[in-house]
Amino acid sequence: MRLRNVPGAREIMVENKYVYTEPEGMKGTWKEVFGNSNPIHIEVGMGKGKFITTLAGLNPNINYIGIEKYSSVLLRAVEKQDELQLENLRFIRMDAENITEVFDKDEVDRIYLNFSDPWPKDRHAKRRLTSRQFFARYNQFLRKEGRVEFKTDNVGLFDFSLEEVKEAGWNLICSTYDLHNDETLNKGNVMTEYEEKFSEMGNPICKLMADR
Ligand code: SAM
Repeated sequence: MRLRNVPGAREIMVENKYVYTEPEGMKGTWKEVFGNSNPIHIEVGMGKGKFITTLAGLNPNINYIGIEKYSSVLLRAVEKQDELQLENLRFIRMDAENITEVFDKDEVDRIYLNFSDPWPKDRHAKRRLTSRQFFARYNQFLRKEGRVEFKTDNVGLFDFSLEEVKEAGWNLICSTYDLHNDETLNKGNVMTEYEEKFSEMGNPICKLMADR
């Protein structure tokens, strides 16, 4: 993700009613935030938020929380949400390394990871959002019946992720190296910003789903 430093973005995040910038105190309270007991789906590394905002509009009975590290990137999603005012959509500005501080056991029903940063150096493998270290974090707050869904055009990262699912002791529900030509898995697919960009360039999109 190319980063544009947007002056004032940090301050806008702190003041905006849809954004949590100090989310550690929120653990166990997300049902109260939404005012209902609907399932909670999160996207980690949501970027500008096209995917999660589209899903929130399509599924009013599911609550969505998008997580993004950078205010300058999150800004686009927040501006859109200021227009749309979707009741079932919130954002957290944080580094997902600390995600277990923010969600309690069984608080989340689904985790989306889309076009996550590849961290190409081996010594940075544990920073990848599909590493066994991250699966161990997800294990702490994802409901038993919940699942992780991951999409990328990066075959190296995808192969690594398939291995990590196994190493983490999770179960691979399904996977494809060409989502857009897989009639079953592509049904109802909502494209992310990166997915649009890379599939227009001719890159096939990989997808896996995993549970425990
Ligand atoms: N998911 C979007 C998409 O598919 O269009 C954005 C993909 S972009 C390549 C990855 C995004 O994840 C960036 O905006 C980056 O800042 C964010 N990100 C990467 N590591 C993160 C972390 N540890 N915590 C929160 N956000 C992270």
